[in-house]
Amino acid sequence: MNFFRHSPAIPQQPEPTRWTPEGLLVPVRYANLVGAHVLLYARALSDGQASSDHGVHCLGCTRSWAMTDSTYPRHLDFQQGNERAAEHASACRALPGPIPARPDDATAVGMLTNRIARSRTGFEFSLHIAEFAADRVLLQRTDTWIYQQFTGIADRNPDLLAVTTDTTSTGTTHTYHQVRPRQPATT
Ligand SMILES: [Zn+2]
Repeated sequence: MNFFRHSPAIPQQPEPTRWTPEGLLVPVRYANLVGAHVLLYARALSDGQASSDHGVHCLGCTRSWAMTDSTYPRHLDFQQGNERAAEHASACRALPGPIPARPDDATAVGMLTNRIARSRTGFEFSLHIAEFAADRVLLQRTDTWIYQQFTGIADRNPDLLAVTTDTTSTGTTHTYHQVRPRQPATT
C-alpha cells in the first residue's frame, strides 16, 4: 500500500495544511493522491495530552471515521486511526477542500442532539464525549463546551437524555448523562 506522510514537496493549499480544529490535537496528517489532507485527530485533554479515542477526517471528500469495523465497533485508537487515515489517503482522489465553516452554537447543539439520537440503542447507557468523535472537525468545539450543552439538551429532550446526580458519603457529587433507550426497556 502506498502509505506516505505529508511532505512539503507536495503542493498544498496554504491554510488547511496547518489547521488544527478547535478542541483537538492533530498528531498525523496525510495528503491524498491530489493533495487533500486527511487528519488523524484526538481530543485535547485539559492537561494538554491527547485522548485515547481518535477520529479521521478527510478535508477532500469530507468523510470521517471514529469506530472500528469490527462486529462490536470500538472507538479508534491511535494505531487504528493512523491505519485508517493512511489507507484513505492512498485511495481518495477528492480535490483539497476549504476549512469547514465553524457552525454557530445552535447548529452545533443540533449536531450534538442528532448524534445522541443516532447513538441510541435498546438500552440506557452513559453518554461519553467520544460519542461525538466523528463530528469534531465539523463541530469545532472544545470538550468543555460540549459537556456544558448536555444539561440543556436533556432539558429540551427528556426522552433522549437524562441527567442524574449521585452524592457519595464523602459529599462528592457525580453527574451522569444517560442516553435513554430507543424503546421502553421490557423487563
Ligand atoms: Zn477523502
